[in-house]
Amino acid sequence: MTESPSDKSAPTVVGLFDHTPDSLRDLLSEWKEPAFRVSQILRWAYVDGATEYDAMTNLSKSLREKLADRVPFYQSKIAGEQVSKDGTTKRLLAWGDGATSECVLIPGDGRRTACISSQVGCPVGCVFCASGLDGLVRQLTAGQIVEQAMRIRQLCGDDARLSNVVFMGLGEPLANYSATIQAVRTINAEWGLGIGARKITVSTVGLENQMRRLADEKLQITLALSLHAPTDELRRELIPWADRVSINALVEAAKYYFDKTGREVTLEYILIGGVNDSTAHAHSLARISRSMRSNVNLIPYNPIDGLPYKRPTHHAVQDFLATLVADGVNAHVRVSRGLDIDSACGQLRRRGADRVEITVRPS
Ligand code: SAH
Ligand code: SF4
Repeated sequence: MTESPSDKSAPTVVGLFDHTPDSLRDLLSEWKEPAFRVSQILRWAYVDGATEYDAMTNLSKSLREKLADRVPFYQSKIAGEQVSKDGTTKRLLAWGDGATSECVLIPGDGRRTACISSQVGCPVGCVFCASGLDGLVRQLTAGQIVEQAMRIRQLCGDDARLSNVVFMGLGEPLANYSATIQAVRTINAEWGLGIGARKITVSTVGLENQMRRLADEKLQITLALSLHAPTDELRRELIPWADRVSINALVEAAKYYFDKTGREVTLEYILIGGVNDSTAHAHSLARISRSMRSNVNLIPYNPIDGLPYKRPTHHAVQDFLATLVADGVNAHVRVSRGLDIDSACGQLRRRGADRVEITVRPS
């Protein structure tokens, strides 16, 4: 039986992480509670790291009970955790309906970056990616997206906070547009996680209209465009949705993003051994990058069990980078983290919660 689009929509439960100060104020005023309760509750949740209403000791017991009854707080259980030797920690979260999603803490260079998912599974199905192998299970709500960032913040300890949040986990954020934007706003807000917009990155496989819509939101977030190939022909072999849009159209949308926000777009390019890593590919990519204000992030492919693609040699990566730089491109190689755990997005989830264990502890 084919599923209707509504089968993929997120459950409508509104939890605390879905609320804004305004919506919480409206709810509490219906309950005849004073407005100052709003900042007390948000402070407990986002600053003090409370995980249950009972910990909010300056609220009355009856209000705590009412909140617990009507406004779900944490909705996920931690179904698995893997810790890499380099400190990268991946958490598998299980939601009430049995769906699971992944989030990762990537520490390093004085940063603590949370990598979070926007959907359960992915509808795009790029041929090299574990996330889309089984298609889209369902959307995540804004609150569930925010909750992942909180679950990662818990790993940072009491005195450390997240410095960056990247939407590079499971799913295509711009195919869950309103939940993604609402989550970005909460992650950015002073009353929320308080992370500067420039420290928030949304990565997209390239949804042209939504990229323009995002530009019009006038947020100062970083937009990363997963290009992965310098020609439409090759891109369409790797990314099924590339059939819907040309590289030229994506470049125009990226230029629009820069014009509206003043933020340079990052072009992500997975280097897959023998597929898109030749010198000719590098020259073509350089032409695309130089046609707009952009920088290039090279990601050596992380092999996935059951998929035929290979990581390029160290030599091939360095040659590709050198060609881009010689062509005048601002390019970097993203250092692979957590290679001793299932670090590529979607891998831990596919392995299944029951078989997840803590593998290696950092020394
Ligand atoms: N759907 C969005 C965001 C999630 S994927 C997008 O595609 O941009 C985030 C990044 O991880 C993308 O650039 C994606 O191509 C990359 N990625 C996926 N599988 C990978 C793998 N096996 N090795 C390295 N990078 C991978
Ligand atoms: Fe989806 Fe991104 Fe993976 Fe492609 S790379 S299947 S768009 S998560």
